[in-house]
Amino acid sequence: MLERTGVPTIEQIEQVFPSGERLAKGPVAIIECYQNIPCNPCYTACNRNAIKEFEDINDLPEINHDNCTGCGLCIANCPGLAIMVVDATYSKDEALIKIPYEFIPLPKEGQIVKGLDRKGQYVCDVKVVKVLSSKTLDRTPIVSIAVPREYMKVVRNFGM
Ligand code: SF4
Ligand code: SF4
Repeated sequence: MLERTGVPTIEQIEQVFPSGERLAKGPVAIIECYQNIPCNPCYTACNRNAIKEFEDINDLPEINHDNCTGCGLCIANCPGLAIMVVDATYSKDEALIKIPYEFIPLPKEGQIVKGLDRKGQYVCDVKVVKVLSSKTLDRTPIVSIAVPREYMKVVRNFGM
């Protein structure tokens, strides 16, 4: 399915998602990088020793969720837009999801936008909480969105 559509299966998503126990401790990165490609900026960007050193440049990244602080450095450095950070402790009803966002214009903080799934289909309205972009560094902007908790594994992008 991934090869034909670019969309991972539920099983693939479950394999890379942290445990409920880890999610309950605060923000953590989820790396949805499913294909062996010559790439490793996620490893070089992480200064928390959370991503295992690559033995071969084509290896899939391996993350130790217990070492990850959810800082998001790897999000902005991943050319594949394959990483997001989920904070399941954001509020009683919502999780905060930090995602890479390369479209323009960037949304505004406080804006309500359309939360989309991995197929680009509408899931629910979500609120933009923070927009982080650097005018001086060539890095991918990071947008934080508040998503109803029941959709934290489903919403992966947004549209306006
Ligand atoms: S979010 Fe921060 S600590 Fe976690 S893997 Fe990415 S760079 Fe490392
Ligand atoms: S930087 Fe992104 S695309 Fe490259 S190996 Fe890491 S997760 Fe995959």
